[in-house]
Amino acid sequence: MLAAKEIRESFKAFFASKEHQIVPSAPMVVKDDPTLMFTNAGMNQFKNIILGNDPIKYPRVADSQKCLRVSGKHNDLEEVGHDTYHHTMFEMLGNWSFGDYFKAEAIAWAWEYLTEVLKLDKDRLYVTVFEGSPAEGLDRDNEAAGIWAKYIAEDRIINGNKKDNFWEMGDTGPCGPCSEIHIDLRSDAERAQVSGRDLVNGDHPQVIEIWNNVFMQYNRKADGSLEPLPNKVIDTGMGFERLCVAVQGKTSNYDTDVFQPLLKAVGEICGTEYAKDAKVDVAMRVVADHIRTIAFAITDGQLPSNAKAGYVIRRILRRAVRYGYTFLGQRQAFMYKLIPALIDNMGEAYPELGAQQTLIEKVIKEEEDSFLRTLETGIRLLDRVMAETKAAGKTEISGVDAFTLYDTYGFPLDLTELILKENALTLNIDDFNAEMQKQKDRARNAAAVETGDWVVVREGDIEFVGYDQTQCDTQILRYRRLVQKNKEYYQVVLSCTPFYAEMGGQVGDSGWLITEDGNGVEIRDTKRENNLPVHIMSKLPEDVTCNFLAKINTEKRAAAEANHTATHLLHKALRDLLGTHVEQKGSYVSPEVLRFDFSHFQKVTPEEIRKVEHAVNKLIRQNIALDEHRDLPIEEAKAMGAMALFGEKYGDSVRVIRYGDSIELCGGTHAQSTGNIGLFRIISESSIAAGVRRIEAVTAEYAEHLVDEMQDHQNSIKELLNNTPDVITAIKKNLEESADLRKKVENFMQERAMMLRDSLLQRAEEIGDIKVIRHISNENPETNKIIVPFFRGKFADVKFMYVAGNVFEGKPSLTIFFSQPMVDAGFNAGKLIREAAKFIQGGGGGQAFMATAGGKNPDGMDEAINYVIEAIK
Ligand code: ATP
Ligand code: MG
Repeated sequence: MLAAKEIRESFKAFFASKEHQIVPSAPMVVKDDPTLMFTNAGMNQFKNIILGNDPIKYPRVADSQKCLRVSGKHNDLEEVGHDTYHHTMFEMLGNWSFGDYFKAEAIAWAWEYLTEVLKLDKDRLYVTVFEGSPAEGLDRDNEAAGIWAKYIAEDRIINGNKKDNFWEMGDTGPCGPCSEIHIDLRSDAERAQVSGRDLVNGDHPQVIEIWNNVFMQYNRKADGSLEPLPNKVIDTGMGFERLCVAVQGKTSNYDTDVFQPLLKAVGEICGTEYAKDAKVDVAMRVVADHIRTIAFAITDGQLPSNAKAGYVIRRILRRAVRYGYTFLGQRQAFMYKLIPALIDNMGEAYPELGAQQTLIEKVIKEEEDSFLRTLETGIRLLDRVMAETKAAGKTEISGVDAFTLYDTYGFPLDLTELILKENALTLNIDDFNAEMQKQKDRARNAAAVETGDWVVVREGDIEFVGYDQTQCDTQILRYRRLVQKNKEYYQVVLSCTPFYAEMGGQVGDSGWLITEDGNGVEIRDTKRENNLPVHIMSKLPEDVTCNFLAKINTEKRAAAEANHTATHLLHKALRDLLGTHVEQKGSYVSPEVLRFDFSHFQKVTPEEIRKVEHAVNKLIRQNIALDEHRDLPIEEAKAMGAMALFGEKYGDSVRVIRYGDSIELCGGTHAQSTGNIGLFRIISESSIAAGVRRIEAVTAEYAEHLVDEMQDHQNSIKELLNNTPDVITAIKKNLEESADLRKKVENFMQERAMMLRDSLLQRAEEIGDIKVIRHISNENPETNKIIVPFFRGKFADVKFMYVAGNVFEGKPSLTIFFSQPMVDAGFNAGKLIREAAKFIQGGGGGQAFMATAGGKNPDGMDEAINYVIEAIK
């Protein structure tokens, strides 16, 4: 039996023999593409070639690509674990032709590989072809059907609809029919009863699609119409795990050697056994599947977090924790314990797993712990909602409550439902869905962009001169109009541009497009769309066909460059000081500030911060000149000792930026020498996830401003202290003095209160059987706090009331005290004071025996006191 590893190699060897260039997998986490968070198909890394934005380096390529399908167009998350053939992360084997071979070869080779190399049983295979779409004027793909007929019986060629058999890159762009290969893995007895033909595309767990061959031959325009694609493309994708099932004669992906070692580890850690109880099986599959995804995401630089791609990873982790909690009895963090088994299984092929083991484990454990706490909070909240529902004599809890649990506390719906079921309660699912829909609409409206077709002004190549020049002569090649939140703007592509398009954490340039007569139109920002540099403009120049001067805002560029170079120096200083476990986990460089995220397991102490600042500033003073290498093959860059960040794409030649011992792969723009940075200051250090710290810093003018501010601040303090030369001693002295004064005031108040108490006792009056002291004064009402406890003791057995009206510094306040016998007789100071306070336009409250109120109208004091007296009569 072929092992998984051998199957992967055989695929590559086969296509190499058909003159394909074998390339490495691109990273699973996609950086620098606003339209895609994760690689979800083999073709992603070739998108720019297919769109014609990048040159065709090799017309035929093949690879095995790590994919993740948990968001956006492909989201299989809810299937994973419940079925046995969808994963979150999986490998996709693929072969491509960019304007080279087309359907005939693609089909012939797919067939040859499956039936001759792997010797899959032809009797178990079926293929589909696009049935056509009259609405779009598209015929059945008779071309593909005709080619298939050379290899496979006619009754095994099945028509498929547009949903299954017509592939589109997006709302616009390359598209075309596709042809899928399905395999029937059922037993002979089952196959004899029902033909596999009837089960294709029927969600049968053992009649599944293994390979999709896409024939891109059209381009879809914004108005929905199709035009022929000049360079036809073959794009195929075959699920590696599913292929292993077919070749190894299994019926579930989890029974192959790809997953068996992981399932075994899950069983050992959780004390459960696979294939005994259906629910436990689902949970074990979920855990075995998800741990791969989470670990690979972390090594790829995507940590769990509360936004975007990080949130997707967090949700996958939480899903596994929750299945473990509910079905595997795991009340403590346990996922992180699977990492050694994962490294055992996959560490050889993916050395980054072993290299980052500590970080992976720490991050996962902390996420697990924090989610388990959330789960417990959620369970308590749910308990309360259930109790209230039962108390109200109902059996259904509101969908809005369930949504709040889900949305605010991350409490999953199916767990809510499970707990409700155990308590014989139900949930109003329509309300829940309505809430969910509302939230989705809000998100969609905020993000929706209406994109027009490109208007081509002229054809031509694009040249970037921004590493060497700040301005250049240029022409507009094409532009399009976009509308977002009712605001329109334009994306403009220039023939030659000095504008750096946002990438690798460095923000894009801004500047101007200037006509020959000197009129400038602003370029707000520069971004990259499918590797195409697009200049963002609020309005277009009047005549888009004329010649322009493109000119960047050099002040902002210089500030961004200082920050970018300082980021490299910071990286170097951190590694030198803290150790080589420090690895870049993210970075943001703008003209104003730089932000650098890196792996490190404890707080960077203030002393270490100081040392890092000193080290960076020293490199700045050494004024080290930039040593730039463009177009260096990756191997040479590595030999130089460059710190490679996240994985590089195939065939990339790289750019190396070097300042002395700081050597990094980087596409950004940099200071000509470190001296240009001027000054470097760290403004904050914090934690952004387990094992990941963030440093924010400023340089050059911004650092100067920071120092100015600190100095101004200090000067103001000095002035307040009569320009004393020794600020610290002066402040200490002040603090001591004021503590001393406070003590004196307290003593004085105490004495005052005692005198007052004695004179008040003389003035006690009798109202019925109640002893009353009333007291209107301009005293500080704080004295009441000293007097009342005394009255409380003295009149413990007597009916007694003390009512005080203080108008202190113009502000009226009321105090009412009742002795215990009064409270026992039903008098309530808290209630009474709310009524009385109305006379002084105020409010307050308290307990039955004692209450206070403040107000705005001192003139109402007499009436307020009278009201209280009347009330006890
Ligand atoms: P399905 O209908 O089974 O979800 P698909 O139509 O989404 O498959 P494609 O987008 O054509 O699949 O992807 C190409 C191949 O990748 C499929 O033929 C299949 O073998 C594999 N594949 C797709 N999704 C997954 C997944 N979630 N887990 C494992 N393999 C997958
Ligand atoms: Mg799918």
